[in-house]
Amino acid sequence: MTQPARILIVDDATDNIEFLARILDDAYEVQIATSGPMALELAGREPPALILLDVAMPGMDGYQVLNALRELSQCRDIPVIFITGHGDTENETRGLEAGAVDFISKPVNPAVVRARVNTHLTLKAKSDQLRSLVSIDSLTGLTNRRRFDEFLALEWLHCQRYGWPLTLLFIDIDYFKLYNDHYGHLAGDACLARVAAAIGGQFGRSHDLVARYGGEEFVCLLPQCDMAKVRNKGYELCDAVAGLRIPHETSPTAPVVTISIGIAAMIPGQDANDPEALVDLADRNLYIAKSQGRNRLCDG
Ligand SMILES: [Mg+2]
Repeated sequence: MTQPARILIVDDATDNIEFLARILDDAYEVQIATSGPMALELAGREPPALILLDVAMPGMDGYQVLNALRELSQCRDIPVIFITGHGDTENETRGLEAGAVDFISKPVNPAVVRARVNTHLTLKAKSDQLRSLVSIDSLTGLTNRRRFDEFLALEWLHCQRYGWPLTLLFIDIDYFKLYNDHYGHLAGDACLARVAAAIGGQFGRSHDLVARYGGEEFVCLLPQCDMAKVRNKGYELCDAVAGLRIPHETSPTAPVVTISIGIAAMIPGQDANDPEALVDLADRNLYIAKSQGRNRLCDG
Protein backbone atom coordinates (compact mmCIF):
# COMPACT_ATOMS: atom_id res chain seq x y z
CA MET A 1 0.00 0.00 0.00
CA THR A 2 1.28 3.48 -0.83
CA GLN A 3 1.57 6.15 1.80
CA PRO A 4 -1.22 8.75 1.76
CA ALA A 5 -0.03 12.11 0.41
CA ARG A 6 0.76 14.69 3.05
CA ILE A 7 -1.21 17.96 2.85
CA LEU A 8 -0.10 21.06 4.76
CA ILE A 9 -2.93 23.35 5.84
CA VAL A 10 -1.89 26.91 6.69
CA ASP A 11 -4.39 29.23 8.33
CA ASP A 12 -4.28 31.61 11.31
CA ALA A 13 -7.84 30.64 12.37
CA THR A 14 -7.91 27.27 14.11
CA ASP A 15 -11.60 26.62 13.34
CA ASN A 16 -10.78 26.95 9.62
CA ILE A 17 -7.91 24.50 10.04
CA GLU A 18 -10.10 22.01 11.88
CA PHE A 19 -12.81 22.23 9.24
CA LEU A 20 -10.34 21.63 6.37
CA ALA A 21 -8.54 18.91 8.26
CA ARG A 22 -11.78 16.99 8.82
CA ILE A 23 -12.56 17.15 5.10
CA LEU A 24 -9.17 15.71 4.16
CA ASP A 25 -7.93 13.49 6.95
CA ASP A 26 -9.68 10.30 5.85
CA ALA A 27 -7.79 10.29 2.53
CA TYR A 28 -4.59 12.19 3.34
CA GLU A 29 -2.05 12.76 6.06
CA VAL A 30 -2.81 16.25 7.31
CA GLN A 31 -0.25 18.62 8.76
CA ILE A 32 -1.12 22.07 10.10
CA ALA A 33 0.57 25.43 10.52
CA THR A 34 -1.01 28.51 12.12
CA SER A 35 1.39 31.07 10.66
CA GLY A 36 3.58 31.72 7.62
CA PRO A 37 6.91 31.17 9.40
CA MET A 38 5.64 27.90 10.88
CA ALA A 39 4.50 26.77 7.43
CA LEU A 40 7.92 27.54 5.93
CA GLU A 41 9.69 25.68 8.68
CA LEU A 42 7.54 22.56 8.30
CA ALA A 43 7.63 22.60 4.47
CA GLY A 44 11.37 23.28 4.39
CA ARG A 45 12.08 20.37 6.70
CA GLU A 46 9.90 17.86 4.90
CA PRO A 47 8.15 19.13 1.75
CA PRO A 48 4.45 18.15 1.65
CA ALA A 49 2.69 16.98 -1.51
CA LEU A 50 0.38 20.01 -1.54
CA ILE A 51 -0.28 23.15 0.50
CA LEU A 52 -3.62 24.81 1.29
CA LEU A 53 -2.68 28.39 2.08
CA ASP A 54 -4.83 31.09 3.66
CA VAL A 55 -4.25 34.45 1.98
CA ALA A 56 -5.17 36.69 4.92
CA MET A 57 -2.90 36.05 7.88
CA PRO A 58 -1.34 38.53 10.30
CA GLY A 59 2.41 39.12 10.02
CA MET A 60 3.28 37.08 6.96
CA ASP A 61 0.40 36.80 4.46
CA GLY A 62 -0.19 34.06 1.90
CA TYR A 63 1.70 35.90 -0.86
CA GLN A 64 4.77 36.27 1.27
CA VAL A 65 4.64 32.61 2.20
CA LEU A 66 4.28 31.62 -1.46
CA ASN A 67 7.25 33.78 -2.48
CA ALA A 68 9.40 32.37 0.30
CA LEU A 69 8.44 28.80 -0.71
CA ARG A 70 9.57 29.47 -4.27
CA GLU A 71 12.97 30.47 -2.91
CA LEU A 72 13.47 27.06 -1.29
CA SER A 73 14.63 24.57 -3.91
CA GLN A 74 12.94 21.62 -2.17
CA CYS A 75 9.62 23.53 -2.05
CA ARG A 76 9.66 25.25 -5.44
CA ASP A 77 7.38 22.74 -7.17
CA ILE A 78 4.86 22.06 -4.41
CA PRO A 79 1.34 22.88 -5.66
CA VAL A 80 -0.19 25.63 -3.54
CA ILE A 81 -3.95 26.26 -3.40
CA PHE A 82 -4.96 29.65 -2.02
CA ILE A 83 -7.87 29.96 0.40
CA THR A 84 -9.51 33.32 -0.27
CA GLY A 85 -12.47 35.28 1.11
CA HIS A 86 -15.86 34.92 -0.50
CA GLY A 87 -16.04 36.71 -3.88
CA ASP A 88 -12.53 38.04 -3.42
CA THR A 89 -11.69 38.07 -7.13
CA GLU A 90 -8.73 40.39 -6.63
CA ASN A 91 -6.94 37.92 -4.36
CA GLU A 92 -7.97 35.00 -6.59
CA THR A 93 -6.36 36.63 -9.61
CA ARG A 94 -3.32 37.84 -7.70
CA GLY A 95 -2.84 34.38 -6.19
CA LEU A 96 -2.83 32.66 -9.56
CA GLU A 97 -0.43 35.28 -10.92
CA ALA A 98 1.87 34.73 -7.95
CA GLY A 99 2.08 31.03 -8.79
CA ALA A 100 -0.74 29.35 -6.86
CA VAL A 101 -2.18 26.48 -8.91
CA ASP A 102 -5.76 27.19 -7.84
CA PHE A 103 -7.92 28.88 -5.21
CA ILE A 104 -10.82 27.87 -3.02
CA SER A 105 -13.08 30.57 -1.62
CA LYS A 106 -14.61 30.66 1.84
CA PRO A 107 -16.92 29.35 3.09
CA VAL A 108 -15.29 26.22 1.74
CA ASN A 109 -17.36 23.47 0.23
CA PRO A 110 -16.04 20.01 1.26
CA ALA A 111 -16.65 18.45 -2.16
CA VAL A 112 -14.79 21.29 -3.89
CA VAL A 113 -11.85 20.96 -1.52
CA ARG A 114 -11.56 17.21 -2.11
CA ALA A 115 -11.91 17.57 -5.89
CA ARG A 116 -9.33 20.38 -6.23
CA VAL A 117 -6.81 18.70 -3.95
CA ASN A 118 -7.19 15.43 -5.84
CA THR A 119 -6.90 17.15 -9.25
CA HIS A 120 -3.71 18.98 -8.36
CA LEU A 121 -2.06 15.97 -6.77
CA THR A 122 -2.79 14.03 -9.97
CA LEU A 123 -1.46 16.81 -12.20
CA LYS A 124 1.68 17.09 -10.10
CA ALA A 125 2.30 13.34 -10.31
CA LYS A 126 1.93 13.48 -14.11
CA SER A 127 4.31 16.41 -14.52
CA ASP A 128 6.89 14.69 -12.27
CA GLN A 129 6.61 11.61 -14.43
CA LEU A 130 7.09 13.61 -17.63
CA ARG A 131 10.11 15.37 -16.20
CA SER A 132 11.71 12.07 -15.27
CA LEU A 133 11.36 10.87 -18.86
CA VAL A 134 13.34 13.80 -20.20
CA SER A 135 16.85 12.70 -20.98
CA ILE A 136 18.29 15.69 -22.83
CA ASP A 137 20.22 18.55 -21.29
CA SER A 138 18.40 21.65 -22.52
CA LEU A 139 21.41 23.96 -22.78
CA THR A 140 23.73 21.69 -24.74
CA GLY A 141 21.37 19.20 -26.37
CA LEU A 142 23.57 16.37 -25.04
CA THR A 143 22.32 13.48 -22.93
CA ASN A 144 21.76 14.59 -19.34
CA ARG A 145 23.32 13.26 -16.16
CA ARG A 146 20.31 11.17 -15.14
CA ARG A 147 20.25 9.30 -18.43
CA PHE A 148 24.02 8.89 -18.36
CA ASP A 149 23.85 7.24 -14.92
CA GLU A 150 21.26 4.78 -16.21
CA PHE A 151 23.21 4.08 -19.39
CA LEU A 152 26.45 3.55 -17.46
CA ALA A 153 24.77 1.05 -15.14
CA LEU A 154 23.41 -0.90 -18.15
CA GLU A 155 26.66 -0.80 -20.14
CA TRP A 156 28.57 -1.92 -17.08
CA LEU A 157 26.42 -5.04 -16.77
CA HIS A 158 26.56 -5.64 -20.52
CA CYS A 159 30.37 -5.45 -20.65
CA GLN A 160 30.65 -7.53 -17.48
CA ARG A 161 28.69 -10.34 -19.11
CA TYR A 162 30.98 -10.45 -22.16
CA GLY A 163 34.25 -9.51 -20.47
CA TRP A 164 34.58 -6.36 -22.59
CA PRO A 165 36.39 -3.23 -21.45
CA LEU A 166 34.46 -0.06 -20.79
CA THR A 167 36.16 3.30 -21.21
CA LEU A 168 35.20 6.66 -19.79
CA LEU A 169 36.50 10.11 -20.65
CA PHE A 170 35.86 12.75 -18.02
CA ILE A 171 36.15 16.23 -19.52
CA ASP A 172 36.31 19.61 -17.84
CA ILE A 173 36.55 23.06 -19.41
CA ASP A 174 39.71 24.74 -18.11
CA TYR A 175 39.19 27.77 -15.88
CA PHE A 176 35.52 28.01 -16.72
CA LYS A 177 34.77 29.94 -13.53
CA LEU A 178 37.23 32.61 -14.64
CA TYR A 179 35.51 32.61 -18.04
CA ASN A 180 32.10 33.25 -16.44
CA ASP A 181 33.53 35.89 -14.12
CA HIS A 182 35.11 37.73 -17.04
CA TYR A 183 32.56 37.33 -19.84
CA GLY A 184 29.32 36.84 -17.86
CA HIS A 185 26.95 33.90 -17.54
CA LEU A 186 25.22 34.35 -20.89
CA ALA A 187 28.55 34.11 -22.69
CA GLY A 188 29.35 31.18 -20.38
CA ASP A 189 26.23 29.35 -21.55
CA ALA A 190 27.06 30.01 -25.19
CA CYS A 191 30.58 28.71 -24.58
CA LEU A 192 29.22 25.52 -22.96
CA ALA A 193 26.93 24.92 -25.94
CA ARG A 194 29.78 25.35 -28.47
CA VAL A 195 32.18 23.13 -26.54
CA ALA A 196 29.44 20.49 -26.16
CA ALA A 197 28.79 20.54 -29.92
CA ALA A 198 32.52 20.22 -30.65
CA ILE A 199 32.82 17.23 -28.30
CA GLY A 200 29.63 15.57 -29.54
CA GLY A 201 30.76 16.03 -33.14
CA GLN A 202 33.81 13.82 -32.56
CA PHE A 203 31.73 10.69 -31.90
CA GLY A 204 29.99 8.72 -34.57
CA ARG A 205 29.48 5.23 -33.18
CA SER A 206 25.89 4.68 -32.14
CA HIS A 207 26.91 2.96 -28.91
CA ASP A 208 29.17 5.79 -27.76
CA LEU A 209 27.47 8.12 -25.33
CA VAL A 210 28.39 11.77 -24.79
CA ALA A 211 26.69 13.51 -21.88
CA ARG A 212 26.79 16.67 -19.84
CA TYR A 213 27.77 15.48 -16.40
CA GLY A 214 27.10 18.79 -14.69
CA GLY A 215 28.28 22.41 -14.86
CA GLU A 216 31.23 22.51 -17.24
CA GLU A 217 31.88 18.75 -17.04
CA PHE A 218 31.20 16.27 -19.82
CA VAL A 219 31.59 12.50 -20.04
CA CYS A 220 32.03 10.11 -22.95
CA LEU A 221 31.38 6.43 -22.45
CA LEU A 222 32.99 4.16 -25.02
CA PRO A 223 32.33 0.42 -24.87
CA GLN A 224 34.88 -2.01 -26.36
CA CYS A 225 37.47 0.55 -27.32
CA ASP A 226 41.22 -0.03 -27.08
CA MET A 227 43.35 2.43 -25.16
CA ALA A 228 45.39 3.67 -28.13
CA LYS A 229 42.20 4.65 -29.94
CA VAL A 230 40.75 6.27 -26.83
CA ARG A 231 43.92 8.28 -26.29
CA ASN A 232 43.79 9.47 -29.92
CA LYS A 233 40.17 10.41 -29.44
CA GLY A 234 41.18 12.42 -26.37
CA TYR A 235 43.78 14.38 -28.35
CA GLU A 236 41.19 15.00 -31.08
CA LEU A 237 38.75 16.35 -28.50
CA CYS A 238 41.38 18.73 -27.05
CA ASP A 239 42.21 19.93 -30.58
CA ALA A 240 38.54 20.30 -31.55
CA VAL A 241 37.78 22.51 -28.55
CA ALA A 242 40.94 24.62 -28.78
CA GLY A 243 40.23 24.84 -32.54
CA LEU A 244 36.99 26.70 -31.81
CA ARG A 245 39.26 29.58 -30.80
CA ILE A 246 36.83 30.91 -28.23
CA PRO A 247 38.77 33.77 -26.58
CA HIS A 248 39.56 33.24 -22.89
CA GLU A 249 41.65 36.23 -21.84
CA THR A 250 41.84 35.30 -18.19
CA SER A 251 42.89 31.66 -18.63
CA PRO A 252 46.43 30.98 -17.34
CA THR A 253 46.58 28.01 -19.75
CA ALA A 254 45.93 29.50 -23.17
CA PRO A 255 44.33 32.60 -24.75
CA VAL A 256 41.43 30.39 -25.88
CA VAL A 257 39.03 27.97 -24.19
CA THR A 258 40.62 24.54 -23.64
CA ILE A 259 39.66 21.29 -21.92
CA SER A 260 41.36 18.72 -19.71
CA ILE A 261 40.50 15.02 -19.87
CA GLY A 262 40.81 12.12 -17.45
CA ILE A 263 40.57 8.67 -19.03
CA ALA A 264 39.72 5.41 -17.28
CA ALA A 265 39.26 1.92 -18.70
CA MET A 266 38.07 -1.12 -16.80
CA ILE A 267 36.74 -4.58 -17.38
CA PRO A 268 33.56 -4.57 -15.29
CA GLY A 269 33.43 -7.30 -12.68
CA GLN A 270 37.15 -7.94 -13.10
CA ASP A 271 38.77 -4.59 -12.26
CA ALA A 272 35.91 -3.36 -10.09
CA ASN A 273 32.39 -4.33 -9.13
CA ASP A 274 30.76 -0.95 -9.33
CA PRO A 275 30.46 1.56 -12.20
CA GLU A 276 31.22 4.34 -9.73
CA ALA A 277 34.80 3.06 -9.62
CA LEU A 278 35.16 3.89 -13.31
CA VAL A 279 33.87 7.43 -12.79
CA ASP A 280 36.14 7.88 -9.75
CA LEU A 281 39.23 6.74 -11.65
CA ALA A 282 38.47 9.01 -14.63
CA ASP A 283 37.88 11.88 -12.20
CA ARG A 284 41.22 11.22 -10.47
CA ASN A 285 43.01 11.21 -13.81
CA LEU A 286 41.25 14.44 -14.74
CA TYR A 287 42.64 15.95 -11.56
CA ILE A 288 46.14 14.82 -12.55
CA ALA A 289 45.71 16.28 -16.07
CA LYS A 290 44.79 19.59 -14.48
CA SER A 291 47.65 19.57 -12.01
CA GLN A 292 50.05 18.90 -14.89
CA GLY A 293 49.00 22.15 -16.57
CA ARG A 294 45.57 21.51 -18.18
CA ASN A 295 44.74 21.43 -21.91
CA ARG A 296 45.86 17.78 -21.87
CA LEU A 297 44.72 14.29 -21.01
CA CYS A 298 45.82 11.78 -18.43
CA ASP A 299 45.10 8.04 -18.55
CA GLY A 300 46.80 7.16 -15.27
MG1 LIG B 1 -6.89 34.16 7.86
